[in-house]
Amino acid sequence: MMSGDGLVVRIRPRAGQVTAAQAHGIAQAAREYGNGVIDLSSRANLQLRGVRAETHGALLKALDALGLLDDDPATEARRNIVVTPFWSKSGVEPALAPALEAGLAASDLALPGKFGFAVDCGPRRVLNATPADIRIERSDRGKLIVRADGAQFGLPIAFEQAAVVALALARWFIASGGISEGRGRMAAHIRKGAVLPAHLAGTELPAAQAAPATTGLVAGGALVAMAFGSMTADSLEKLASAAAELRVTPWRMVFLPGSDLMPTGLGIISQANDPLLRVESCPGAPWCPQARAETRLLARELASHVPLGKTLHVSGCAKGCACARPVALTLVATSQGYDLVCNGTASATPVVHALSADEILSQPARYLGGL
Ligand code: SF4
Repeated sequence: MMSGDGLVVRIRPRAGQVTAAQAHGIAQAAREYGNGVIDLSSRANLQLRGVRAETHGALLKALDALGLLDDDPATEARRNIVVTPFWSKSGVEPALAPALEAGLAASDLALPGKFGFAVDCGPRRVLNATPADIRIERSDRGKLIVRADGAQFGLPIAFEQAAVVALALARWFIASGGISEGRGRMAAHIRKGAVLPAHLAGTELPAAQAAPATTGLVAGGALVAMAFGSMTADSLEKLASAAAELRVTPWRMVFLPGSDLMPTGLGIISQANDPLLRVESCPGAPWCPQARAETRLLARELASHVPLGKTLHVSGCAKGCACARPVALTLVATSQGYDLVCNGTASATPVVHALSADEILSQPARYLGGL
């Protein structure tokens, strides 16, 4: 994808995981072929920024040598699977995710670009807020289930059948008219009245949701974040030196399994109360061609004024790429300045129009007071 700072190249790690050696290789490639910036996406992908068109081919070769490329772009696009970062080697995920990948690769399913799968088989669900259309998870009685997103109940299945049933559900979605003009999501399809066939509908309630993940030491390892989910090649190398494996999460954090020390420095956020965790922002101007103004500098300067537990989203335009959910306060760049939205998304109706950055920075309490 072309952006204001060059090509953005997506790396979709299998089961969200890269080895330390792969992470070192990605950092090296980001410096050599891009501008050294690596973003964490909300689909648990890594994105290399600032890649030059003339070095794109060499970058792909480097990623291939690291074992990070699929056979072709269509296979990579279909492999839209988010796996809980807290999987353990003795759990079902290490075998289930590859089975699903293999099934998707071998299939001819023409699914919409955003259609995805979540593999979330811990005792409590951690991916419930992560968009996905088909979920493999646990029921409240601990059974493995496959559940269509938006359906109240899941179908209990044997481990060996999970990937097969998930693919059958995807096939039903297509056959039952879930796609319109190349788009479609499972939850919307069910909301509109689509009824699952008896052999795909279940009666098992999904397990309870876990508390949202926060930065710090957690069971099984360390969770670290970077402001705006954006890191440098140096930061990635530092993380790669701290653990044998890195797992990219959909919360724009990295989980270091087995680590009992929090890495620090180089922009790594290790404290859950760091004000930078209260702001979200897309790259904005000049990095995105659609951006109307600068975003991240403003967000950084306002971060310490955002109350604990609240979120401020600074968006380069009304598309709101950095944060699709409604938050307490959103500043949306327009050609006249920044519009202010309260309790909404970047595309919601603003309550104040055309503020300048100086106006907001000189009276942050006035504009953040509504939080
Ligand atoms: S929200 Fe707008 S400015 Fe920001 S990245 Fe998306 S399209 Fe670009």
